[in-house]
Amino acid sequence: MTGLPTQDGEKRRVAGIIVFIVFLVLAPAACLIADSNSQGALLEEGLPGLGIKGVAVVVNGEKKLVLKNRAEAENLLAWLKAVYPAEPDTEVGFKETIELTDLIIDGQEAVDFDTAKSLIQPLVTVIFSSRVAVREEVPFSVEVRQDSQLPRGGQKVVRRGAPGEKIVTYQVTGENGLETGRVAVAEEVLQEAVPAVVTRGSRVMLASRGSVVRLYQPVPGGVISPYGWRDGRMHEGVDLAAGAGSPVVAAAVGRVTSAGWEGGYGKMVEISHGGGLVTRYAHLSSIKVNVGQPVSERELIGLAGATGNASGPHLHFEVIVNGRHHNPAGYIF
Ligand SMILES: [Zn+2]
Repeated sequence: MTGLPTQDGEKRRVAGIIVFIVFLVLAPAACLIADSNSQGALLEEGLPGLGIKGVAVVVNGEKKLVLKNRAEAENLLAWLKAVYPAEPDTEVGFKETIELTDLIIDGQEAVDFDTAKSLIQPLVTVIFSSRVAVREEVPFSVEVRQDSQLPRGGQKVVRRGAPGEKIVTYQVTGENGLETGRVAVAEEVLQEAVPAVVTRGSRVMLASRGSVVRLYQPVPGGVISPYGWRDGRMHEGVDLAAGAGSPVVAAAVGRVTSAGWEGGYGKMVEISHGGGLVTRYAHLSSIKVNVGQPVSERELIGLAGATGNASGPHLHFEVIVNGRHHNPAGYIF
């Protein structure tokens, strides 16, 4: 019991006494822990031999109710955890500290299971934590380049952006079935976004035009929808009657600056005529020129159609001067 490694006899004696005192204190405590189900509780309640065993549900240190046995008490906690529907693999617990304590009770004290349910539910907050994976779009950025060939204020989409895709895993936490917090814990990019590339014109016009330019009408058909506000949106060109496959020609000499699919324009050709003047020909069924190619007035550039946002075949024709749309009706003859 002693045998402490000290050489001094007096010290050894004192140490022996201390160890003995510690033993005196610990022995009953150990006994209490070992036999807490019966005798320990019995001591606490002070009703030796008279009561029956029960289990107290203790919330944040306060005894809230008593059930007949531990199995019922555990069923009660299991029922509480299942009150709110949860996704699979959700961890469910309680915000409060809940302990089950065995004790001796008199016959009246224990409540039945249904009463226990209605008593405990308002006292307890059921908390949950789960992981949720969500497929999300990755927005694309827009890269702006200066183009000294484009008039100031003019803008051209060189490359359309495309959003990417990712799976974001969130740690979702909540109380009583309602989400209260969400933190992204992992992210897996399935597809990178493709940045859009836009050029902005930087060319400053030295002098204004002395007279209005006359443009050749690119198709012979008349105006079927004029320039201006239409159904709450600005119609930035004129729609000219043109059957599917009918030839579309350049309105003036120039150079092709764009030839390809342009969203709602469908297949589109854009020609720069110099001096800040640009024309556009949209909804083509077929394009007959390439970017950079010089074209002369009345040269075939494509065939009319209904590609992009068009309800039927026609030519959508735009006139842009120094980056601003003008009514083509004032230019064509
Ligand atoms: Zn149009």
